[in-house]
Amino acid sequence: MCGIYGFIGDGKVEDLINGLKKLEYRGYDSAGIAFSRNDSLVVEKKTGKVDALRTSVDGKLEEKINAGIAHTRWATHGIPNDINAHPQMDCKKQIAVVHNGIIENFTALREKLISEGHEFISQTDTEVIAHLIEKYFKGDLLEAVRRATIDLEGTYAIGVIHADVKDEIIFARKKSPLVITANEHGSYCASDVTPLISVGRDVVFLEDGQIARLKKGTFEIFEISGKPVEKRFYHVDWDEKAAEKGGYKHFMIKEIHEEPRVISDALMGRVKDEKIFLKEMEDWKDYIKRLRKINIIACGTSYHAGLIFKYFFESLRPFDVEVEVSSEYRYRNVLIDDRVLNVAISQSGETADTLESVRLAKSLGGKVLAISNVMGSTLTREADKTLYINAGPEISVASTKAYIGQMTVLYLLALYIDAVMGGEHPERVKALSKLPELVDNFILTEADAIKAVADKYVGYSNFMYIGRNLNYPSVLEGALKLKEISYTNAVGYQAGELKHGPIALLDEKFPVMAVAVDDDLKDKMLSNILETKARNAHVVAVVSASDQKVSNLVNDVIRVPDVENYLYPFFVGISFQLFAYNVANNRNLNIDMPRNLAKSVTVE
Ligand code: GLU
Repeated sequence: MCGIYGFIGDGKVEDLINGLKKLEYRGYDSAGIAFSRNDSLVVEKKTGKVDALRTSVDGKLEEKINAGIAHTRWATHGIPNDINAHPQMDCKKQIAVVHNGIIENFTALREKLISEGHEFISQTDTEVIAHLIEKYFKGDLLEAVRRATIDLEGTYAIGVIHADVKDEIIFARKKSPLVITANEHGSYCASDVTPLISVGRDVVFLEDGQIARLKKGTFEIFEISGKPVEKRFYHVDWDEKAAEKGGYKHFMIKEIHEEPRVISDALMGRVKDEKIFLKEMEDWKDYIKRLRKINIIACGTSYHAGLIFKYFFESLRPFDVEVEVSSEYRYRNVLIDDRVLNVAISQSGETADTLESVRLAKSLGGKVLAISNVMGSTLTREADKTLYINAGPEISVASTKAYIGQMTVLYLLALYIDAVMGGEHPERVKALSKLPELVDNFILTEADAIKAVADKYVGYSNFMYIGRNLNYPSVLEGALKLKEISYTNAVGYQAGELKHGPIALLDEKFPVMAVAVDDDLKDKMLSNILETKARNAHVVAVVSASDQKVSNLVNDVIRVPDVENYLYPFFVGISFQLFAYNVANNRNLNIDMPRNLAKSVTVE
């Protein structure tokens, strides 16, 4: 959570605001900047989004500066107000600090610093960092930050600027991400690569415990012991335009429209002659042959993608696949050995709970395969191997295209593992290759019809999503999407579970979104739909294009193409994304930045 941006070199105040704007999806309770002018620091902070800050510094946007740090907050300690907004400062107002994460021992540190004469004005844990650096500063900012970080417990990414130290800014990291690049005009650091793409494509990811000193055009990295570290560069090939809205009203709808391309990019180079090629996995063939179990570890939308993997893989062969939410997995007493494959899924590769689960799995001797979208992210560095989904930057907080990209890669993985174990499913590989075109066509032809259904249901406050088997994870994801962006109560159930309790909720004010496509379980779904109709619920059914049977019995339908059973989750997933988007859009909500949420969940 939270976005940090900073630079040293040629620039102006507006560059700080523009950098921050690209990170706003990571948190938007408040925004703030600090830069030096003459011998003092100028700090501007504002509750609310980056645009509120931009307005409040309107007269200064063109001011030339040679260094600055910026922050957009996702509050953990202290309510979102101007005082708690970052940057936080020391007593003499010479040091400004931006911080992402949680300082777990902040109460003890604060009490000690107060007893030593420091005065605190905010409720944040962050403020202790500014005072600690003040305490240790003897003219060397790097050394003061290094010394301060030794005292910190918890997680942090920090950016530090000092009024008297004009030629450098310092960044440090423990568990919260920071990326650095430089060109001849300056050096730049940010929470992720999005604001850096316009200034440099060769980036270095700070590792845990490392500290970076940025000077104009160059930067150095040190261990917490002070020992210099050799830099390891990653090349970022994301398209700069991909992080802009490109004429769409919201990033979310733009990203849904990118899904056909996301699928083809995820497939690119990995499918040939009805076979799957995952070069990353080649040296694991023997290990795969010996597997007895696959553990999927993920949160939120990635967890739902993981559940789809389970059903899809089990449709290929009987096998033990367990899918667990990371925040639970890490506290379990799991049995892991060298015949278990752990697959950790995280769009950002920075999800704190998933990282902790990965560390648990590795400490027990397990191997970890990461599925991620962000090259060089912490997960990809800690895992034994990574399969990238190659979806490009996802800006909307509610995930859409990354989910579809994850599913595509997970289908490839399932077919690959199955093939290594001796299975043959050329027809499924072939079907996957046709997916981009089918999905493109589907979005083009059905988006308006789905909008019309959403328009009709915009007034309801509760929704029940039901499905079975491969379409069960899709109902969980559909309900999550509606909750996230429209703040509407939505629950997802296995259709067979309704009668065991949830059906008590239903009446004419509680519509049901039912997946009743032409698969093996359609008749069972039909019975479940009739059970809900008998309780006067309005039913929207997702049906196959040629369906008559279900369509005649329900109130409204969303039609998806007639495809092989195992391809339906793609179309059902996209249908529910479009439905949620249109409900939220009808209500004029801030779809790309829903309240209380942030994209890259770097706190546990
Ligand atoms: N814990 C800090 C605060 O509440 C930083 C939160 C963040 O990562 O934005 O201010």
